[in-house]
Amino acid sequence: MKITILGSAAAEAVPSLWCNCTYCRQAVERGGKDFRRRTAYLIDRDTLVDFGPDIADQCRDAALDWNLLERVLITHPHSDHCNVTDMLWRQPGYAQNVRPLEMLGTAEVLAYITQRLDALGKPEDADTCEYLKLTYRTIEPNSTLTSGDLEILAPKANHCPGALNFILRRGGKSVLIANDTAIWEDASWQFAAGAGVDLAIIDSTAALRYPDNNGGHMGVDVVCRFRDRLLQNGILKPDGMAIANHFSHNGNSLHADLEAFYTPHGIAVGYDGMTIEL
Ligand SMILES: [Zn+2]
Ligand SMILES: [Zn+2]
Ligand SMILES: [Zn+2]
Repeated sequence: MKITILGSAAAEAVPSLWCNCTYCRQAVERGGKDFRRRTAYLIDRDTLVDFGPDIADQCRDAALDWNLLERVLITHPHSDHCNVTDMLWRQPGYAQNVRPLEMLGTAEVLAYITQRLDALGKPEDADTCEYLKLTYRTIEPNSTLTSGDLEILAPKANHCPGALNFILRRGGKSVLIANDTAIWEDASWQFAAGAGVDLAIIDSTAALRYPDNNGGHMGVDVVCRFRDRLLQNGILKPDGMAIANHFSHNGNSLHADLEAFYTPHGIAVGYDGMTIEL
């Protein structure tokens, strides 16, 4: 299984739109890993996790082959993860030879997509899935399903109504994608117990500025506690890899500073284009 981090930023990207903070200015000067687009992932060549405002550039940079894309998983109904405007280009007159697509997420995600489409001019009586030429599969929090040869476990995230994290398993390898979330509620820990993933990617939005933040997102100290609990519960293999990801400039999150904190804790720092082969 190959995981590509297409984006590693929170909602407003880094450097952030409109922002004159010292961290955004330093990010502009440093470039490289300090240029962060909105969080999304590519799994092998056939699965996208999240579809945010930077998805066109991200798919181009990853040389995504639309003939191979089978499914898009949406973690939750926030605009940095669910960019409805760019879903519209599946329509006749825009994209050509559009292939079937499965989209997967909660009922709240589908309601959000429908609401946005209505505002963008979809006739109210038009069915969202027919309008976007896709099949939508509703996922219940803390449930398991399969899509093709991909096994999907969906622990409920602690973030907003209708938010999921995903454990994806294929060919004996597995990854946990745990953004956006704070430390899970008990039901999610029980659901995912013993999953034994090879890689855990963990929300680090509040980063260094708010190390104890556990409100919807995590700061660095909470990320370490979350990773430790993943190990204790057998969710992350003892020799598994952990990566912090989904950073806000408001978390004072310059890449070098994040590495200085996380490296001694055995946690890697995500960046745009980071690729992990399991
Ligand atoms: Zn987000
Ligand atoms: Zn800023
Ligand atoms: Zn969010």
